[in-house]
Amino acid sequence: MAASMVKSFLVYHLFWWMFLVIAVSSKPPNIIILLADDLGYGDLPSYGHPISEAPVLEQLVAAGLRFTDFYSANPVCSPSRASLLTGRQPPRTGVWPGVFYPQSSGGLPLKEITIAETLKAKNYSTALIGKWHLGVGENNKYMPTNQGFDSYYGIPYTHDMCPCLKCFYPDQPCFYTCNTDVVACPLFKDTVVIEQPTDFTKLSNKYSEEARTWIRKQAQTNQPFFLLYAFHQTHNPMFSNKKFTNATERGPFGNMLLEMDWMVGEMLEELRAHDLEEDTFIFFTSDNGPCLLRPYDGVGNAGLLKCGKGTTYEGGQRVPAIAYWPGHIKPGVTREIASTLDLLPTIANIAQVPLPSVVLDGLDMGNILFNHGRGLRDTLLYYATFPEPDIGVYAVRHKQYKAHYLTSGNSNSGDENHDPDCRPSAGQKPHAPPLLYDLYQDASEQFVVDRKKHLDVYALMYKIKVQNEALMSWAESEINKPSNSSLEPCCNPGCHPRPECCVCKSKFTPAIMKV
Ligand code: MG
Repeated sequence: MAASMVKSFLVYHLFWWMFLVIAVSSKPPNIIILLADDLGYGDLPSYGHPISEAPVLEQLVAAGLRFTDFYSANPVCSPSRASLLTGRQPPRTGVWPGVFYPQSSGGLPLKEITIAETLKAKNYSTALIGKWHLGVGENNKYMPTNQGFDSYYGIPYTHDMCPCLKCFYPDQPCFYTCNTDVVACPLFKDTVVIEQPTDFTKLSNKYSEEARTWIRKQAQTNQPFFLLYAFHQTHNPMFSNKKFTNATERGPFGNMLLEMDWMVGEMLEELRAHDLEEDTFIFFTSDNGPCLLRPYDGVGNAGLLKCGKGTTYEGGQRVPAIAYWPGHIKPGVTREIASTLDLLPTIANIAQVPLPSVVLDGLDMGNILFNHGRGLRDTLLYYATFPEPDIGVYAVRHKQYKAHYLTSGNSNSGDENHDPDCRPSAGQKPHAPPLLYDLYQDASEQFVVDRKKHLDVYALMYKIKVQNEALMSWAESEINKPSNSSLEPCCNPGCHPRPECCVCKSKFTPAIMKV
């Protein structure tokens, strides 16, 4: 009798231990996307920059998987971010052409399904810290908290859309004409402006503190979490907090990069403090190529790639990317083609949540990440900064070949770029036959492949272009929706006169507001 009681006791406890082990091991991993702004292909030491300093990111490179052929979905911010979050090309999301402004009435349509919303199937806790740039809209309609994020802390657009930086950083020269017609940069907590103007000299410390506090809170629960940490670095105009001003030999850009690197380090330290590093998949990348404006003030670098931000040349969209997950992703380098479009399906697979029931342009990167194997993607479509439905794709990459059917320079690639193809004066130009490059032999897109010797490749590229364009459906443009200055975020809604009255809860008073 006693023996059978002992047996029952053991079986009962064994059952519960097994249940607990399964419950614990079935908890999906945490996900962190680290998204730099306008960081170019050639800006990190591991991507060839001789002067840059980024010791923490270099640690991730050494212990993670570095991509050589990773692409942002678009050469500018809003469409690129919409695609990263939805796994869909900009035309499908409606986030085209160009970018949102503080006055924009549109935004990422609420019916689009973001990574944050997808992860809710497994009850992920979700947060966005930093830049949003997918619309604010009337009554904060398009803010992150309406797009699957439980919390938001940051400036919802780019800091170059606020009055000139001289107002915020008196020791630095002003990069832009000081536009006093717009509201000062608002810092949001969820849908409330908590500081306006934002004190940029303290912004990175605030973001860091928010990230650490949020992770600390998550560590106390049994819920998996998703953090999108979207840095303002390294977007123009350049600034950094006191600690990083004059911190590097690369100047303002290098200082800003090192400051972002420190923020990544702070975040990692918090993860490690709670023993969460091996339970967390981290992916670092950039939203588009480098801005090459004003070379004397410090700009990003596309390395060996042609042109930069705003163009569909390689420098516009091929960006650094690092996947890091100790114990799950082995260190190495991959030459497989992948895109920010692929993050949603990859993360859905890692978290074991269902894919959204929509047409996706992204493909799972699992075999690249976990086996260092072949990727599912051999083709990329390049939609321009200002795409048009009746024009379609500008360029197509298939394996090592890339065909440009249209090219255009862009103001973000610089009036003074040494390469005239990159300058804004190089307007939209059709190419028939297309400019075909072999990116394995000529990553810098300088020498057009001999057409007579490669008629089959030209024919294949055209077939891919036509087939893919037939599959694209263009949502109504959100960016072309009418804009209105009354939509600019203001900490004193309804106040008068604007924009001067939109100043609150900040001890920091910019010089321009004192006038
Ligand atoms: Mg950007």
